[in-house]
Amino acid sequence: MQYTILPSSKSRGIGAGLTYESAEQLQPGQYVRIPLRQKIVDGLVLDCMEAREKQEFQCKEIHEILGDSPLLFPHQIRTLVWMAQEYCCSIRQALGAFLPGSQWKELLPKEEVWYSLQECEGSKGSEECEERKKVKGIKQKLVIEILKDGKKMKIEELRQESGASTATIRGLVDRGMLVEEVKREGDEKTSNPKPQISRPSLTEDQQVAYESIKTDPRPSLLFGVTGSGKTEIYAQLIADCIEDGKQAILLVPEILLTEHCIHRFEDLLGKESISVMHSRLTPSQRRMEWRRIHQGNVQLVIGSRSALFTPMENLGLVIIDEEHEWTYKNEQTPRYHAREVAEKLCEETRAKLVLGSATPSLESWSRSMKLQTSNLKPQKEYHMATLPNRYKNQALPNVQVVDLASVNFGSLYPFSPNLLEAIDDRLQKGEQSILFLNRRGLATALLCLECRRRIVSPDSQLPFTLHRMSARECLVDHTTGLTIDVPSTCPACGSANLHAVGAGTQKVEDLLYRQFPQARILRADRDTLDHPEKMRLLLKKMRENQADILLGTQSVVKGLDLPNVTLAAVLLADVGLSLPHFRAGERTFQLLTQLTGRSGRAKPGDVIIQTYRPDAPEVKLAAEHAVEQYLNQELKLRMHTQYPPHGRMVRFLFRGPGSSQSAAILNKEIEAIGSKKEIVSVSAAPTLFGGGNVWHVLVRCNDPHALCEYLELDGVIVDVDPMECV
Ligand code: ADP
Ligand code: ZN
Repeated sequence: MQYTILPSSKSRGIGAGLTYESAEQLQPGQYVRIPLRQKIVDGLVLDCMEAREKQEFQCKEIHEILGDSPLLFPHQIRTLVWMAQEYCCSIRQALGAFLPGSQWKELLPKEEVWYSLQECEGSKGSEECEERKKVKGIKQKLVIEILKDGKKMKIEELRQESGASTATIRGLVDRGMLVEEVKREGDEKTSNPKPQISRPSLTEDQQVAYESIKTDPRPSLLFGVTGSGKTEIYAQLIADCIEDGKQAILLVPEILLTEHCIHRFEDLLGKESISVMHSRLTPSQRRMEWRRIHQGNVQLVIGSRSALFTPMENLGLVIIDEEHEWTYKNEQTPRYHAREVAEKLCEETRAKLVLGSATPSLESWSRSMKLQTSNLKPQKEYHMATLPNRYKNQALPNVQVVDLASVNFGSLYPFSPNLLEAIDDRLQKGEQSILFLNRRGLATALLCLECRRRIVSPDSQLPFTLHRMSARECLVDHTTGLTIDVPSTCPACGSANLHAVGAGTQKVEDLLYRQFPQARILRADRDTLDHPEKMRLLLKKMRENQADILLGTQSVVKGLDLPNVTLAAVLLADVGLSLPHFRAGERTFQLLTQLTGRSGRAKPGDVIIQTYRPDAPEVKLAAEHAVEQYLNQELKLRMHTQYPPHGRMVRFLFRGPGSSQSAAILNKEIEAIGSKKEIVSVSAAPTLFGGGNVWHVLVRCNDPHALCEYLELDGVIVDVDPMECV
């Protein structure tokens, strides 16, 4: 047989694999060693084929086969090949998502060497056998002493306890006194007993949704208002999957947010059967989890988008929670979207795909509305299950929109009197408040009152943010991390008249302390939460009522389920609206709906939205909890303007010197073929956060792949169906 092998070596031109021969029967995904340019290198079997009769060239033999089972399962290989095509990258680049690190050897089950005493012939009971008595060395004697009574030990332990060297221990093996056994890591525990599952009992609404998801073979969109118990349905589905002897993946948008949901699944299945994959695992921890999953010792993987690529042989279910979140798009090559890859993976394994959200993405919404969004590539249909009510029919909170333009702040910006009153009211009642502000630091910019310019970072050309770091103030560039001392004069005009504008979380925290000296305030942003442990502690404090106010950036506090929170407020709901982006409205709407989801989950609650644009549809419809209306309206708008999910987009990225010229050339080229490839629009521009060094060409068209095939794209980064377009 002949095989297409992908070598681990990074040489150019072999990104799609090379052909080798072997007399052995191999499967796709197997780990082999192959000769390549006078060297023996690692390789992965991609494909098998019958050897051709007449050979134009001499096919080399596979040198060695490593591991008993494939490193990647066949459905993973098929998904991998699909990804390379779909996202216009090489197979090697796509492989990066599946295999952690470049040291594939580390992914094979570790071999462990165990030692025990050789039974002596002729000796009975406790009587010491003759041979052993002849042992003279103190360390050797100690080894024998330690292993008495049928004990078995790994070499590392034995060395440590006896102080004997490997050579000393081996010496005893050679003399026939010790038995050496080589075992594979994980061999001992593969017979993991089926986890004890303690199922939640569902409400009537939940039961109906659950059953319709179970019976429909298509991917299901679970559209449920915040607090309706989507997690409860996930739990049932996961329990079913595991009882069927299969494995499940639960994707969450941000691992910090999973803290509160992980314990629910641990209660369901027990810790042993769950693997939590988060970005803070060290490489060796990551590999250990990977091996545990590969060996079939894990029934449920919970993690961010990359958890999709963990090696599960018997996948039965993939759930994507908060499927509308942008973190499901990978912003590095391979630039995949987890929803799309999950769909492919489920197709390959016949696993069920479930997408959950209170504010579905327009992509998923249009698919479940059975709308053909593109005439060239008909989109697949989704099944939809709905949970229109909160658990126990708890009412959605009452939402008040405050027009910031009409507020007289005095020194209390960005707090309107209504908001201060509402916070005060909760403090009186012993209830909790959550405040959202999407700005870290003290101030969003340092403005020169003389020349009216903001102080910008030389790295990104974007305004610096003012931060307080251990009692000292400094300027931080959020896009590059560059940190400098606060200048005493304006770098542009020399004036000393510098003024901090736009409040960040630090500043707001100061204000809150001043206004409510008795309040216990917690701040949650990337500066205070650098580890999941800190999030756990913070949630514990909130849950045990050791805090009154939680102030945080949206990304950190949007998923929380805290029963004593009866006020949620967004201090400034305009940040998303002002970005020049066709998804800006959708994003703002999602955020505001998430915000309303934090309040009044167990008792009646309120929400306050402070904004300079009270009449924007995103704001108005979010305040009315009119999700369907918003989505349908937005979908119509996209149809009209031919933006995704109606039609598609592709983005070509250029970095470094000459990027603007390269972008301009490609732009021209696409313009020239525009009519042939049904191009709706094409434009070249510097990216918003690229500091002028990164340019992109944005194309709206019906078929990005047909376009890419037409172009010369060597060295160009291709982003199919991009999320970032500014
Ligand atoms: P969602 O994810 O839809 O926002 P959650 O799954 O977090 O909602 O559920 C909201 C709250 O209601 C949680 O505290 C959850 O424990 C509770 N809950 C929902 N359904 C049930 C149920 N069937 N039995 C017990 N508690 C439930
Ligand atoms: Zn100035």
